[in-house]
Formats: sequence, structure tokens, C-alpha cells
Amino acid sequence: MAYMTQKDLANTEVDCVRARQIADGVHSVQDAIAQAESHYGRKAESVTLLAATKTRDAGEIMAALRAGVRVIGENRPQEIVAKAEILRAQAAREGLSVGVNGEIPLYLIGQLQSNKINKVLPLANGIQSVDGIELAQKISARAQNLGLCVDVMLEVNVSGEATKSGCAPERAIDEALAISSLPSLNLRGFMTLGARVNDEKIVRRGFAALREIRDCVGGQLAQDSEKLELSMGMSGDFAWAIAEGSTMVRIGSAIFGPRAFV
Ligand SMILES: *Cc1c(COP(=O)(O)O)cnc(C)c1O
Repeated sequence: MAYMTQKDLANTEVDCVRARQIADGVHSVQDAIAQAESHYGRKAESVTLLAATKTRDAGEIMAALRAGVRVIGENRPQEIVAKAEILRAQAAREGLSVGVNGEIPLYLIGQLQSNKINKVLPLANGIQSVDGIELAQKISARAQNLGLCVDVMLEVNVSGEATKSGCAPERAIDEALAISSLPSLNLRGFMTLGARVNDEKIVRRGFAALREIRDCVGGQLAQDSEKLELSMGMSGDFAWAIAEGSTMVRIGSAIFGPRAFV
């Protein structure tokens, strides 16, 4: 993570021009979400905007919160460690509560190695990137030790692309049902990354597959399947995800601009 030495992620200063850019980004994404909800016959405000804040510093994230963002997603445990406390303190000064027990949840949305679980659990409200029962069991055990209850989502690799993490779609129902029975975990839903192709049919087919998995698991848990979240859709494909039932879109570059670091 070379950028972590090149950029001070705990920086809280943000100049007016940059703050304005970010606010404009938030507002245009909010408008586009509302438009997609209406266009595809979804209920107004049924889709939550999560700001994907990897490589962005605390000041940039504060600018997004001031513009109305109410959910944050970080990719890397190290970034959560670098930013969570400073963000919480900075937001508190403005009457906003971020992170665990706060009204603005902070999720981990990227890969979690087991040696980082203990660091992340006290700082994050939930983990969207759980790829199966093995990782879930480890999280469950550590959460029990820490006396915490953790929201998790099962990440499913609907496109089958080898570069993507997540469990295979064929395994998703079994994995989700197994996860739902673990102590100290709360299965909140499913997460996926859309296929990396510019073909509406192919991308939407993947999102639809996740929705079907969600509906099936919801039915088996005898729980209203609408209560299980579908975290799908990023800057390039969120309208298609909303068309297929997304309840949470994870947006980075359309809010903050292109990333200077990967
Ligand atoms: C970076 C990232 C996003 C947001 O991507 P953009 O294309 O910048 O909107 C969403 N989800 C995950 C898991 C990510 O890593």
C-alpha cells in the first residue's frame, strides 16, 4: 500500500474547492440514484448510498458527510485503523456519530485476512466481504471474545472472474445459511462486484443472480427477504444494479473523482 506512506490519511484539512467538488459528486450521485429508482419502478429512497472511501483522507470523507453521505465503506483494515478514530472525533464536533454505535456506520468492504480481524472488529459496524463459513467462523469466535455482535454480508462472485474474491454462486445459499446460525454474527445480506464488462445484459444477469440467492435464503430463513440487503453497484454500473434490486450502492470515484493511488 505505497499510498499510505505518500498520503496522510488522518489529514482533516480540506480546501473549499475540493470540498465543493466532493459535495457536487455526492449530490449528483444522489440525484442519479433517485432517477434510477423512479426509472426502474423502485420505491423512492429504497437504495442507500455507501461512500467507498479507499485512498481518501479524513478531510475528504468529512466533506462527503457534510454533503449528506450516511454510510461509509473502507477496503483495507489498515485504512480503517488509520482513519476510524480521527473521523469519529472530527464528526462528533459537528454533531455526527460515525462508526460503532454511531448513526453513520463504517463497513469493511474489502478483503479481510484473519490476522486483521481483531483490529477491525472494534472499529467497524460490519463486514460486507465475508467470502464463506471459514472466515465467518473466525469472525464469530473473535466477536464473542470481544463481546460484540457483528453485521456481516456474504460476498458472492457472480461474474466468476478469477480476479474477484467472494464465494461461488453455487455455494452461496449453503454458506449463507451456515453463517446465519453462527453466534455473535448477524447476516445482513449479500455483496458483489459486477462483471467488468460494458455489456448491460451480462452485468445485470450477475446482479439478478445475487437477488435470486437473497430471495432463496430469505425464504429459507423464514424472514422477509427484503430485509436482507443487496450491496451491489459501483460508479460505473449502479443504475443497472438498482434495476436488479440493489439496496445499497458503493460509490467511490463518482463522488471523489479518480483515485490517485490504486
Ligand atoms: C473501490 C470499490 C468500490 C467503489 O468503486 P468506484 O468504481 O470507485 O465507485 C465499491 N466496492 C468495492 C468493494 C470497492 O473496492
